[in-house]
Amino acid sequence: MTPTLPHPALHASHSGTWVATPDGETRAISRGEAIRLAADTPVIVMNAPLIGQRLGYGDLSGLDLLELFAFLHPARFMVPTPKGLARACGLPVPEREDDVAAFLREATGALLSHIDAPDWAEREGAWTATQALGRLRWPWTPLVTRRIAKPERAERWLFSKLPEWEESPGRAPPRSVTIEPEAVEQQLDKLTGQGSERRTGQRDFSVAAARAFAPRDMRDSPNMVLAEAGTGIGKTLGYLAPASLWSQQAGGAIWVSTFTKALQRQLGRETERLFPDDEERRNRVVTRKGRENYLCLLNLEDALQGGFAGRAAVLAQLVARWAAYSADGDMVGGDLPGWLPTLFRRNGSTALTDRRGECIYAGCPHYRKCFIERAARASADADIVIANHALVMVNAARGREGENRPTRYVFDEGHHLFDAADAMFAAALTGQEAIEIRRWIMGPERGSRGRRRGLSARLSDVASYDEQGGRAIAQAVDAAMALPSDGWLQRINEGEPFGPVEALLAAVRGLTYARDTKGSDAGYGLETELAEPSPELVEAAGPAGEALDALIRPMVTLGRRLEAVLAEAPDWMDGPARARIEGAIASLGWRTETVGAWLALIARIGGPADPDFVDWLAVDRVEGREYDIGLHRHWIDPSRPFAKTVLEPAHGVLVTSATLRAGGDWSVADARSGANHLMRGAAHFEAVSPFDYAAQAEVVIVTDVKRGDLAALANAYARLIVAAEGGTLGLFTAIRRLRGVHARIADRLAREGLPLYAQHVDPIDTGTLVDIFRDDPRASLIGTDALRDGVDVPGHSLRMVVMEGVPWPKPTVLHAARRMAEGGREYDDRIVRAKLAQGFGRLIRRADDRGMFVLLSAAMPSRLLSAFPEGTPVTRMTLDEAVMRAQRLPSVTRMRHGVSEQA
Ligand code: SF4
Repeated sequence: MTPTLPHPALHASHSGTWVATPDGETRAISRGEAIRLAADTPVIVMNAPLIGQRLGYGDLSGLDLLELFAFLHPARFMVPTPKGLARACGLPVPEREDDVAAFLREATGALLSHIDAPDWAEREGAWTATQALGRLRWPWTPLVTRRIAKPERAERWLFSKLPEWEESPGRAPPRSVTIEPEAVEQQLDKLTGQGSERRTGQRDFSVAAARAFAPRDMRDSPNMVLAEAGTGIGKTLGYLAPASLWSQQAGGAIWVSTFTKALQRQLGRETERLFPDDEERRNRVVTRKGRENYLCLLNLEDALQGGFAGRAAVLAQLVARWAAYSADGDMVGGDLPGWLPTLFRRNGSTALTDRRGECIYAGCPHYRKCFIERAARASADADIVIANHALVMVNAARGREGENRPTRYVFDEGHHLFDAADAMFAAALTGQEAIEIRRWIMGPERGSRGRRRGLSARLSDVASYDEQGGRAIAQAVDAAMALPSDGWLQRINEGEPFGPVEALLAAVRGLTYARDTKGSDAGYGLETELAEPSPELVEAAGPAGEALDALIRPMVTLGRRLEAVLAEAPDWMDGPARARIEGAIASLGWRTETVGAWLALIARIGGPADPDFVDWLAVDRVEGREYDIGLHRHWIDPSRPFAKTVLEPAHGVLVTSATLRAGGDWSVADARSGANHLMRGAAHFEAVSPFDYAAQAEVVIVTDVKRGDLAALANAYARLIVAAEGGTLGLFTAIRRLRGVHARIADRLAREGLPLYAQHVDPIDTGTLVDIFRDDPRASLIGTDALRDGVDVPGHSLRMVVMEGVPWPKPTVLHAARRMAEGGREYDDRIVRAKLAQGFGRLIRRADDRGMFVLLSAAMPSRLLSAFPEGTPVTRMTLDEAVMRAQRLPSVTRMRHGVSEQA
């Protein structure tokens, strides 16, 4: 440890607060004393927002070890806990909470000593970064600067260090090949490794999957295979085997699409078996995400050059450090630690990505190094492209892949296709959406920072060359003034909307409150179906429609003029200008479509309903505070536009999941995957899980916890978690109840040495929460939807799942419309069965996993029990009995003492 380290270290958990002083003493202190100490002197902490929350002192700042780690080892994975840090530093793990504060001082010394090590891998750029961080008064600068020697030669700056992507000739269309079953089996053997157990289910699955890649015989009708593969079948390698063969033999790319980032990451790891050589894998397997996930170098440059101030500017420097070492520039779920932006209270991280579609393509000085462009180009030549459902749909709908349009897809987590399509093909005319388009067209509002530019600035060369184009730009800018501008929400609240669209939103708000039946005082979002509109709404619709009509006309004209200018190819149009205009055509195109959808939505006010859609009005609120108002339109059956846009043009599609039929029959899977809308439906395949659920798992339905009694609910969670000694995933359907339970039990569990983490409470991103949970078998994690389906924690860390009740669907306008269209109660049951199956699916991930699924429900209908795998024992019992069962689960202490359920 650094002997001269003059700073105390502070640690706070739900069970207490401790300080370790520079003279080597550690003592427990009160929260008040800790706050005074932190306010007076720089203290060493780990995760300042989290510690600040535990102390009830939101402004806590100091020497955060996580920031130091991010500076020293950018793009390196670490679980952001004392245990994770100990491992990263090669130090003994602090055993008890009261050891942590002293450990933090020790870890500081160890981390700082990395700078002295001659093999510090991330040295390049560190000196330059410390100079900038020093100017920003980053608290670590004095301790770091004195150790980093000024390099003899100027360091390569990030923007010169990053490699440039290469343009490559277009890829030939894939050859028509058929993959024989014997070849599939051999490839599977190769991937699973010699000597691996012979899994019949996996082989059959592989052979069935290969059918999706065969040449198609009929236009607009892909070979579609729906394959339900129970947990443990090994479906990832099962489809990668035929997919990789097809790709090699046909010379085409297979797009493997997932719903969750967790699976996307896992898939990346699985492809190591296909291509063990790193270099080869980088060329053959490419991960693609939506552009809003990637760092935009131009935004970063802006931030570094004064666009960001204060803490956000420190974040920008740490992100620049990371970008120089990142594999792909992915800021969300890539190698940027998920915990880094949360240390800055998310201040600025989203502004570093290209969220608003402001990319200027070839007009950007970093275009040839741009992470987004690099990923797009790499995927054109790859064998396997790992994407997600949303990106696949956006690309297909907007024709983004051009000549490289995929022909073969694997949709893993296929049970989510319906929801992904629902989000993709919906339309919303809301204040937030409208203001985004206004900004894109008009440029920055007065007084705003950054490099945002409007259409006129982006296309000034077109405007001066093409008179009609120039006129269209001017008209679009004029018309965009009718859209909501900064302060719209406040004006509407004060009854003084400005312009026709704000007036429409004011009428939407008025009617939504008027028709509310749930009690507007509860503070949550409000909605009402768009039926029998009030005279005010009908009256406001006319001028709003005219304003949008006046906007869409010049947008359409401009799109045509840009095409014409491209075709004319004037002298001034060099490569970059061409690319910029092509980019403008694409982004103008989908914005024009959006305005078109708004017009259709407005036409519906007072007009006839379209039976294909559900339309409603909504006021979005969080804890009573309004943040958006608008009209919404969703397809009753979004698998229809999905089939048209994605499936029909494809040649082969495999849709797979462990819960494709949601406990129902194949008609459910056919309906939700879009197969029903194809001329030739889909082939079906099923492989049941190889797990012995009767021996490995049990379902316990606790019948004596009263619904709606928060104290009783919290008590049940606490008792069960204590009995199981942690290792529990708690699933909630309402954030409010989750927070209420957390507030009641976190301290109590901490006193037992059982950490409890919570989504929507702890200032930590979900991915990191799961990493922490996975890393500590005594920890428990509670959360909502994202945890029900995106958590893969095999082994001992997860041994009990507790669901707060039967997960009935929320009674929204959209749900009511679909329920009516799709069979009433049976539709609800299907949703519940799917959610139960997904929650249960978290429990047993490996052949040696064992665990208990607890449902707290006095009235769980027996008809829903088919959600659980066949053979799983289901018992209704009291909480006392369930606690006794949980005590028999193989916890850490019990395993240490050789006690388990068998005992
Ligand atoms: S090309 Fe676009 S996304 Fe890439 S760095 Fe430049 S502005 Fe950002």
